[in-house]
Amino acid sequence: MTKVYAGVDLGGTMLKAVLGNADGKILCENSIPTQSHLGPNGVLDRIATLVNELAAKAKQKPAALGMGVPGLVDLKAGVTKFLPNFPTQWREVKVRETLSPKIGCPVYLLNDVRTATLGELTYGHGRTANTMVFFALGTGIGGGVVVDGKLRLGPLGAAGELGHLTILPDGPRCGCGNRGCVEALASAPAIAAEGVRLMLSGQAPKLHEIAGGDAGKVTTKTMAEAAAKGDEKVAEAIVRAAEYLGIAIASVVTTLHPDLIVIGGGAAGIGDLLFDNVRRTVCERVKMFPGETVRIEPSLLGDKAGILGAIALAVKGGQVG
Ligand SMILES: [Zn+2]
Repeated sequence: MTKVYAGVDLGGTMLKAVLGNADGKILCENSIPTQSHLGPNGVLDRIATLVNELAAKAKQKPAALGMGVPGLVDLKAGVTKFLPNFPTQWREVKVRETLSPKIGCPVYLLNDVRTATLGELTYGHGRTANTMVFFALGTGIGGGVVVDGKLRLGPLGAAGELGHLTILPDGPRCGCGNRGCVEALASAPAIAAEGVRLMLSGQAPKLHEIAGGDAGKVTTKTMAEAAAKGDEKVAEAIVRAAEYLGIAIASVVTTLHPDLIVIGGGAAGIGDLLFDNVRRTVCERVKMFPGETVRIEPSLLGDKAGILGAIALAVKGGQVG
């Protein structure tokens, strides 16, 4: 019988699990609310139940489990170090030791964006690129770096926090404590905040129409729609964010000369207006070699990058760095 592997994505609100094979084919999946208020042991019990239910459905136990985690982890020990958005922040939670006996297989942990990078490397665009850098545009901006086919993790597994490259020395305060990080300028909330300002100050009539004047409905998605329908100021806001992101990417391109930059996460859905201006900015800012030789593409796996990365982590037995 072909081996199956379990992949888990531990999110602040949702817990997602799949069973898949080594080729990245998903056999079955399910997701439930994380209920992080239950604390580490309560959440780990929920993960075990979710995975065991899938195994019962597939009539096969997973050979290993990989899990993407939103924060810092000790990959070797299978221990969480710091999950900033979880109650108690999960410092020194022995996830492998607790979870392995409950599901009957080895457990491997990795930061969630590095996990998505591993997914893209193993099953997505990475199959045709040796050196690749992943940017995940969401509530924050996450990143992952692959050099010569290997994920660059660094001693703390924290290498590749590309959202925190400084773009404007005196720019807006970032969640990390620094000022002017690309995350503070080009993440989904940063773009949407400018959309809200434009809408409320009467500079975005199409956006006002689409969002019904409701600030809560201003997202990168509704802004992309408004820009396409002729809201010039909204288009300008997206272009400016794309330029900030392009400046960050240009620095990474100059550092590594990668074959490929992949942009994933929800805000990548803005589409051409984002990608065209990122590509233009990178070409304008990389002068030491032809910047246009570096491919800049949307993720091939889309919102499946993280969960497929978790499968890849399980298949590789945690040997990814
Ligand atoms: Zn920052």
